[in-house]
Parts: sequence; C-alpha cells; structure tokens
Amino acid sequence: MPPAPSSARHSLATCPVCGGREFRPVMLVGPHPVVRCTQCQLQFANPQPSDAELAAIYGPSYVLVENDPVGEAMVLQSKRATADHYLDLLAEAGVGPKGKLLEIGCGSGNFLRQAAQRGFDVTGVEYSEFACARARAVLEGRGRVLHGEISVLAAESAAYDVCVLCDVIEHVRNPGAFLGEIQRLLRPGGVILVVTPSLASWSHRFLRSRWMEFKEEHLLYYAPDTIRRQLTQAGFEQVTLRKGVKKLSLDYVAAHFKKYPVAGITQLLRLLQAITPAAWSRHLFPIVASGLVAVARRAPSRS
Ligand SMILES: [Zn+2]
Repeated sequence: MPPAPSSARHSLATCPVCGGREFRPVMLVGPHPVVRCTQCQLQFANPQPSDAELAAIYGPSYVLVENDPVGEAMVLQSKRATADHYLDLLAEAGVGPKGKLLEIGCGSGNFLRQAAQRGFDVTGVEYSEFACARARAVLEGRGRVLHGEISVLAAESAAYDVCVLCDVIEHVRNPGAFLGEIQRLLRPGGVILVVTPSLASWSHRFLRSRWMEFKEEHLLYYAPDTIRRQLTQAGFEQVTLRKGVKKLSLDYVAAHFKKYPVAGITQLLRLLQAITPAAWSRHLFPIVASGLVAVARRAPSRS
C-alpha cells in the first residue's frame, strides 16, 4: 500500500514570486490563511494545506461533471469553445497548428481534443486517474495521456513546441520549480500559455472575499504584474497578457454557482434561469470572467 498522505501543512518563509519575507493577512479560505506579500502583492495560502487535505479535495468528482446527459453536453460545448479560443490565441502568437503540444493538468481532455483536431501532436499529463480515462476516450486514440504529475516527463527535454496550463499553476506548491521544468521540456523558442484566476478581474473587484476563485486548493492568486514576474524569473521572454475569456452559457454559470455557492449570486442566477427561454440559457457567450491569459516564449537558445 502507498504511504498515507502527510497531514503536515507547508509554511512558506519566502514569497514564491519575489522572495520577500514580509506578509500581511488577507482572509481565511476555509481554515487556511491567505496572505499578501508586501513587496510584490502576490496573495498566497500560507501555510499551504497538507497533502492529506488536498487529496481529500481532489476526488473523482473534482472535475465539474453533471449527472444528466444534457448537463454534460453543456459542459463539453463550453469547454471546447473555450479551448478553440485559446488555440486561436496560440495561432496569433505564431504557434501551430503543426507541432508537439503538451498540456499539464489536461482534465477530461477537451483542450487536447480540439488541439489534435487542428493538427497538433498532443500529450497530456493528468493527476486524476478518473480524468485520464475520460481524456483517452475523448481523444479516440490520438496523442497520449500520462497519469501523474510533471515528473512523469523527467526523461524528456526540449521536446515540445508549446505547453498549455489551464487553471493549473494556482494549484502548484512551488511554481518557480514547476515553470523551470516546463522550460526544460520546451524547445528553444517554444511557447507557454497560462490561464489562471486574476486578482485584477472584475469578478474579484466586485465579489472581494466572496470571490469564487478563493478555494482551499488554490495556493496562489496572481495578478498581471505577479504572473509576468513569475514567468520572467523562470526564464520566459516576450510575456503578453490579456483578460481571460471563457465561452459560457447561463446554464453553465448557474451550475457552477450551484456547486460553489456565493450568497446572492447563486439565487440571482437561479431566478434568471427560470425566466429565460431554454434555448437562450444554452447559448454560449464570450464572458470576461475571473482569469487572465499569459503567453510567453522560452529564450531562442540557452544562455
Ligand atoms: Zn512577493
């Protein structure tokens, strides 16, 4: 039997972005304190939840999956439309559609599927065995899906043209080391695309401490300045940032706030759903929600 996950929480003495040592308390997320670095303004969980606490959160139901086929179709439609949007951003950055694409935290494989359809040779790495099985089914034999963490790629180097991290970096205990690994996996001049919640988003400004991105499993809360600094420190260049756009329907947003209730918002969405014709509730709209998208490049050659 594998050893039980540790119940020790991880205290950070230095800020994961700037190395600063002075933090101010922001709030509690569940039992976990979030602090702000006085030097770079990064907000982060400190101490971080233990391995045991995180393992209890990342169960089979962690990926938002509906029990009914209509709900599932709605989630799929939204995820694939959002994936297409990110692939368009990569195309704008001169990436693809041919080439080797790596996604860390590929979930149920919807981004990989859209990328494979455009001609990318895709590899996904996923921590959840349940999600891995779904991703393999979704890909129908194209590409490969590896179970585990980024360390499963330890034997590869400079192998990929592009690496995608959708809602992943905020879950990582040591983002500097993690991005260093991605540097190593990208070919010189390769591109990284990072999607993460942003403290500069309208939803955070509006909801403040009720922001839906304050979750126990989110260890890092970036803003444009801090994600730029994190990427630059890891050796990435030409960082461009934009507001994250997701393609969402009213039904999708209502389902999300039913799972993660926010006082007032959940009830308002339920009311809106009740008075909106079904066909409109399912229509996808581009919504600037809670995140940012950063695109950056590994230096053309090793310095
Ligand atoms: Zn800092």
